[in-house]
Amino acid sequence: MLKLLRPTVRDLAGDLLYAIGLTRPDRGARRLNVVTFHRVLPQAQLREYPLAAIAVSVEEFTWFADYFSRHFTVDTFANAARRWEAGERPERPFLAITFDDGQRDNALHAVPVLERFGLRGSFYVPVKALDDNETLWHDRLGYAAAALLRTDRSAASRALARLGAPELADDVATVQELVERAKRLTPEERDAFVDETERAAGGNSRPAWDGMMTWEQLRAMVARGHEVGSHSMTHQLLPQLDDAALAYEVAESRRVLEARLGSKVETFCYPNGDADARVVRAVREAGYARALSTRWGPNDPGTSPFDISRCDIQASTSRTRKGVLSESRVALRLSPLQPRP
Ligand SMILES: [Zn+2]
Repeated sequence: MLKLLRPTVRDLAGDLLYAIGLTRPDRGARRLNVVTFHRVLPQAQLREYPLAAIAVSVEEFTWFADYFSRHFTVDTFANAARRWEAGERPERPFLAITFDDGQRDNALHAVPVLERFGLRGSFYVPVKALDDNETLWHDRLGYAAAALLRTDRSAASRALARLGAPELADDVATVQELVERAKRLTPEERDAFVDETERAAGGNSRPAWDGMMTWEQLRAMVARGHEVGSHSMTHQLLPQLDDAALAYEVAESRRVLEARLGSKVETFCYPNGDADARVVRAVREAGYARALSTRWGPNDPGTSPFDISRCDIQASTSRTRKGVLSESRVALRLSPLQPRP
């Protein structure tokens, strides 16, 4: 219902629900909240990054960290979930701040902000991609498509047409739509499509500032109390893989992570949130204690530890119509009243 309301009315409804307390965090003391971030970038880099839906600026992230620190009991996902499952119900509900994809900006920009507020985060890394400092396919495609839209619109149109993707009003939305369509291809088709689009754009156009975290950065983060978990080896969509490839992504990533970090790895995060019964079984059998999906919403007691849902945090959906970051908007999004996408 709220989705259909005009933005002004939606802002007012958000404020009202907050004022009467319905969406206030402390109303959900029995719930486990997990929020998702990907990129935390300085303004200049944010402007160069093509997938706006998975990026926030350092200033925006600081606002979110401040909000979370005042309204929630923030802990790593492994710790928060363990405490929550053991029945602990602090006055301010549990919240875990998670980061997917292992990008360098996490160590450079997110960690210092978290630590300023005394918070600890959970970082999910694709192990082999990190080892090779590889660009993940969605970033490769994002950079290539954005470059084509700037320099060679007819080549861009051809790439869009191949996946049946529309050319939308703004290029950011067009790139996003193309990446969404590419998720529906088989791994082989997707690799070929990304290669071709990248070739058309004149090669890998990832800027020099972009890249994966290093093992050194991750070890330093673990030493300071942050959590590092597995986000597979290569960020393949796991239900598409055969058993051997699935075991490699799930079990081997845990083995390598534990060896490189010198500490236990308890949690897994399904790439793109994609999991089926066979994937869940593989994760359980590999020795993980719990796993994160991208299913939307807070978790009620009794939720399967291998299907923990999260709330994706974006600056655009946390602002009022006037563009101000709003506590009542974020509270609404984290509450069960938020319509599920
Ligand atoms: Zn991911």
